[in-house]
Amino acid sequence: MIVDCHGHYTTAPKDLEEYRKRQIAGLKNPAHVPSKGFLNITDDQIRESLEHAQLKMQRERGTDLTIFSPRAGGMGHHIGDETTSKHWSETCNELIHRVCTLYPENFVGVCQLPQSPGVRPTGCIGELERCVKEFGFIGCNLNPDPSGGYWTDPPLTDEWWYPLYEKMVELDVPAMVHVSASCNPNFHFTGAHYINADTTAFMQFITSDLFKDFPTLKFIIPHGGGAVPYHWGRYRGIAQDMGRPPLKELLLDNVFFDTCVYHRPGIELLLKVIPADNILFASEMVGAVRGIDPETGHYYDDTKRYIDGIDWLSAGDREKIFHGNVRKVYSRFEAQRADAAGRS
Ligand SMILES: [Zn+2]
Repeated sequence: MIVDCHGHYTTAPKDLEEYRKRQIAGLKNPAHVPSKGFLNITDDQIRESLEHAQLKMQRERGTDLTIFSPRAGGMGHHIGDETTSKHWSETCNELIHRVCTLYPENFVGVCQLPQSPGVRPTGCIGELERCVKEFGFIGCNLNPDPSGGYWTDPPLTDEWWYPLYEKMVELDVPAMVHVSASCNPNFHFTGAHYINADTTAFMQFITSDLFKDFPTLKFIIPHGGGAVPYHWGRYRGIAQDMGRPPLKELLLDNVFFDTCVYHRPGIELLLKVIPADNILFASEMVGAVRGIDPETGHYYDDTKRYIDGIDWLSAGDREKIFHGNVRKVYSRFEAQRADAAGRS
């Protein structure tokens, strides 16, 4: 079984976008009383949005299951306030639940959290709990910068985030560290803001004792870990100079990387530098890069092809990356699969 741990509903029916537009228009009217409203999307529209996109690519590329969450660029935590984010996150998560219910063999859910800049993430606990307990979701996406490129909230290692971490530990679910759109014109969202955030989160983890406080807390740093694998020597050296423990001891029981790196040399570097125990297969299709690489004739985001082509990777490590590590990091995965099989 091949599990892609990083997929977003980027092809959601247009009505979701219309819903969001109505919500944002309401914010401009001072007399408007926010309400969750209604999303008018049929099951057929959901099927249509996936059959020629994510499902087609799963079939063509030979992957079996995608860990699926709302579109990351659309989370837009900087828009409106906590109530805006609550209504929007609930609506997006409910749509993911419908996808996972329609296609239990192909998708398992991960939720968006109703974060808002300057608001302690205690308000996210209820939605995380609802998604895990009622919908069978197995993780969440945590935005380390709800301001959208201005980094106005404390680092991920600050006690500001601890109530959410306590709930993650209690529910035994990991978070993928994932920013959303960039409001800062210096940072292109998928080209700079995403990769910056991946790198920034890792450096934050190095400087703190977060994992002493939460020994079982788990994070996935996406996009191959940003600059981390390429600069592994720098991070090891910085940690050493700061008197921190070796990186393996400090965080490799808690921090994992995905394979959303869109060229073979990058994937090879990731696999050479980071232990196979800490790498999870992912493609983020249909996502940030949708084109075909003229140098190879294949989609940039067909990351399975790169891994398949690496002959020095042992069968054991390959199994860990494609499947084994998912069961370890997403502790609820096996039970969720058994439950989905029982229902279908
Ligand atoms: Zn993503």
